[in-house]
This record gives sequence, C-alpha cells and structure tokens, in this order.
Amino acid sequence: MQGDPDAIVIGAGPNGLTAAALLGRAGLRVLVLEANRARAGGALGSEEATLPGFVHDVGAAFFPFAKASPAFADLDLEGSGVRWLNAPIESAHPAPDGSVAIISRDHDVTAKHFGDPADGDAWRRLATWHGKVEADILGFLLRPLPALRPLLRLFPLDLFRLARILLSTGGGLSERLFRSVAARRVLPGLALHVDLGPDDTFSAGLGYMLGLTATTGGYCIPEGGAQTITDALVRQIEGFGGEVRLGARVSQIIAKDGRAQAVKLDSGEELRASRAILANTGAPKLLLDLLDRKLIPGRVVRAMQRFPRGWGTFKVDWALDAPVPWSSELARRSAVVHAGDSLEDLRRFTAQVRGGDLPDNPYLVIGQQSVTDPSRAPTGKHTLWAYSRVPPSLEGGWAHHAERFADTIDARIEGLAPGFRPTILKRRVVSPEALESMDANLVGGDLGGGSNAWHRQLIFRPIFPYFRYKMPLRGLYLCSSYAHPGAGVHGMCGYNAASVALRDLGVSPSKT
Ligand SMILES: Cc1cc2nc3c(=O)[nH]c(=O)nc-3n(C[C@H](O)[C@H](O)[C@H](O)COP(=O)(O)OP(=O)(O)OC[C@H]3O[C@@H](n4cnc5c(N)ncnc54)[C@H](O)[C@@H]3O)c2cc1C
Repeated sequence: MQGDPDAIVIGAGPNGLTAAALLGRAGLRVLVLEANRARAGGALGSEEATLPGFVHDVGAAFFPFAKASPAFADLDLEGSGVRWLNAPIESAHPAPDGSVAIISRDHDVTAKHFGDPADGDAWRRLATWHGKVEADILGFLLRPLPALRPLLRLFPLDLFRLARILLSTGGGLSERLFRSVAARRVLPGLALHVDLGPDDTFSAGLGYMLGLTATTGGYCIPEGGAQTITDALVRQIEGFGGEVRLGARVSQIIAKDGRAQAVKLDSGEELRASRAILANTGAPKLLLDLLDRKLIPGRVVRAMQRFPRGWGTFKVDWALDAPVPWSSELARRSAVVHAGDSLEDLRRFTAQVRGGDLPDNPYLVIGQQSVTDPSRAPTGKHTLWAYSRVPPSLEGGWAHHAERFADTIDARIEGLAPGFRPTILKRRVVSPEALESMDANLVGGDLGGGSNAWHRQLIFRPIFPYFRYKMPLRGLYLCSSYAHPGAGVHGMCGYNAASVALRDLGVSPSKT
C-alpha cells in the first residue's frame, strides 16, 4: 500500500477482518497487521495438522451465529464464496448408560429424542417460542448497547420469560423445564463452552442461546474448513483496496496530541494511520502493554491488571480411518457431540477445573466435520476435533500432562464409541500454551475473550464505561471478542466497532 492508510486494524481474527471489510467498503484505505506469519484468521482457520489431505479447524469449527449475524449478512459472506452445510442433527448428548438427548432444527425430531416424551414436549414449546422471538433477542444481544428497540418489540410476557431465562443458572433452568437426566444435561453442558458452570448466574442465558440457535441456523460449517470464512473476508478487504500483512506484530500504539496516530511493529517499523486504529487484541494487552499507561485513567489500568480470564482450553485433532463408531446411532449423524453425563457430572467437572485440577471425566465438545463435509478428509477417511476446558496452567507445565490428558479424552470417547481407538491414524494435541502461541488473544488458552461471568457481560465488557468500542484515547477502538457481544464467530465486535468509528469520522457505512 502506497502512502499512509486511513485505518490500521491490529490483528486479522474474524472480528478484525470484519471491521476492516466494513471500513474498506465505506471507502477507507485499510491496512490489517497480523502477527501470524503463515495465515490470517486467528482462531478461525484450518490446517493439515495431522496427515496430508486431513483439514483440521485450528479453533472455531461450528457457527451457530453464522446465518443470524447482521455483519455476515451485510457483507454477504455467501456471495463471497462461503457455502454453509448442516448435518441432519445439530447436537447429540449421549452418556455411557445409553441415554441420549439431541437438538435438531426439526422440533418434532428433537421432541422424539429428548430424554422422555414430557421433556420432548417442553423442548418443542421452548423452541417454538424461541423461533418467534429470536430476531429481537439477537437484535438486543448483538448490536451496540443499549439496543433497546428490539426489546421493546417483545410483548411483556415474552420479556418476562426472557428475563427469567437470562437470570437463571443453567442447572436451575434445566431442573425447572425438564425431568430426565438426559434432557437436564443439555443446556448447562452448552454453557461450559465458556467458563460458566451449572450453578453460575447467567449460565442459563449462554446455554439457552447456544442451544436454541441450534434450532434455527443450526451448528453449520463452511464447506472446505473454517479458513474459507477467513479467506472470504480477506478477499473482500483486498477487493476494496485494503491489505492484510502477515508476520507484522504490533508492539506499541503511538499517541500524539491526545490521539492514536501510529503503530510500531516488533521489527521497529512505524506505520501511521491518518484516521483511526482498531485493535483486534485482548483488552488488557491493548491497555496495559500497547499503550503508554500514562494515557489511561488509573482506574482502568488497575481493572485491567485484575482482568478475570476464562478457563484454559485443551484441544485434540484426530485423523481417522473411519467415522466414530458411536453407540448412539443419533450421535453418528450429529454435527457436534457433547460428552457430559449428568448435571452432577458437569458440576464436578466445573469444581475440578476451578480448583486448578485436570478433570478426570472431561466434559467434551466433539466436532465431526467430515461427516457433513467429505472435503475435509481423503475418501472414506474422517477428521475429528474436540476440546475440553482445563486450568490455564498446571504444576510442571503442560508438556508433562498433555499426552496423558489426551489419552483420558480418547478413553472418554471410547466409552461412548467402543472401537474408536483403533480408527485413529494420527492425533495432534494442542495445549493452552500452544493455543496462546498461535494467537496472543487466547491467553492461557482462554477462548472466551476473558471470563464470561455475568459481571463481564454487556455494559461491563471489557470495562464500564468503555463498552461502546471507543477506548480512552481518541481514534482508538477495541474490535475483538473482548468487547461486546463477546466470543464466537459472528463478526459483530468488529462490525460494531467499525460502525462506531465510521460514525465518529462522519463516513457512511453503506456500500460505496
Ligand atoms: C479451540 C477453540 C474452539 C472454538 N470453537 C468455536 C466454535 O466452534 N464456534 C464459535 O463461534 N467460536 C468458537 N471459538 C471462539 C472463536 O474462535 C473466537 O471467539 C473468535 O475467533 C474471536 O475472534 P477475534 O477476531 O476477536 O479474535 P481472534 O480469533 O483471537 O484473532 C485475533 C488475531 O489478532 C492477532 N493479534 C493479536 N495481537 C496482535 C498484535 N499485537 N499484533 C498483530 N496481531 C495481533 C492474533 O494473531 C489473531 O490472529 C473457539 C475458539 C477456540 C480457541
């Protein structure tokens, strides 16, 4: 790019790229600086990590918000070549006792397999109601706060019902709605995608959103791997005249006259942005390390020093000779399989991780992308992806524990799918440390952009009153999942931040 860009985006994760695409479309010259030397995308990418021809997603793999995201709809990801695929079943929750509960986009199918017939009926009622109010709930949750207009469109009874769900614990909501062990493990299990246990305030809200969006857009995947989403966004940015530069780690933001003006790379190179700088970084990284702390209010510095992180993530990729032989036939047709035996099992898991111990019966999110998308593996072969939540660090370091813990995970899957182990051709283990070295935002393997506890949400994200993307320095915006609405691939943190920046600059976000 010749001359100074109008805007610099630090980091090419899905939020940084979405922000850059929106700014580029509005006519700004945008330069994206990405630390990773090999690829853009952050936690949204794919690699042949095990054997040739096996495509593994490095982080995010299933996209419940993909079709509902206003950002992706506005940027027309599908028009840029992303093709979404859905499995016949979105999520299966089997247990070693042979019981299973599933979520399908067809409520009648779910109702038949949701613990017992009464629970099936309760699910159908909930999912039918959700279908009517989803657009307004997402309008409230995804847009810059305070997004009150969508809430005002709800009837008082709907508002009351929604508030009752959001304010419950996952375990409490499950026990109120369902009576079978199988049905009760579903929503609290989904909340454990982040650091919310069954007895945590707000965990019902997270479990509800992940469970119920599975009934509308589903846990869809992009044909060819998560990298195709990243590639589509990069193509858009380049199409608008922008540039994504790899191997460019920003070590400092330079302020002049009370305004963010330029960045300095690890290499010492300085690059000026004439109008705005957007950071797709962690909030503590931005406010404590990249900026001179003297420019930030002392209260913000102290809050960032105490910033509560989410748990670590431990991930495994497998190349398989055959599909996973789940005992549950329904699990064989499911996009995602969740291993978590009961509410009690999930409570125990939560206590172990919070206590700093490796869980002995790890809760697992297991993705079988190649069942839906055969392009992920050579003919007849399969990929498998799974993660558990773990303490960010362990005594003696992860190197001492990683392979043994991966054996525990193999054994857990074997218990649900006898004959699984002989199908393994190769396994790749990714510890929390390895995740952080891939992407500096995943501190200690935290995939949630910091803790997702209730006091880190909405106007408290990342810290009050900076929940509207503008940072305490003019011309600087936070556009990562550390900002509202948080983790997940929906692009809305980037989209909202770029919209606010454009408004500040007096530039229309509409297509030029
Ligand atoms: C194992 C795992 C599984 C997940 N599964 C799912 C899933 O199935 N579905 C889902 O929706 N979400 C999932 N997520 C969460 C999702 O991936 C994240 O919420 C999302 O990627 C956040 O996007 P982001 O753009 O804010 O940040 P990131 O994706 O973390 O990208 C940040 C980028 O900024 C770069 N960067 C940071 N600091 C600097 C710097 N100083 N200079 C230059 N570049 C810098 C990083 O290298 C990185 O490329 C998962 C995450 C992980 C780790």
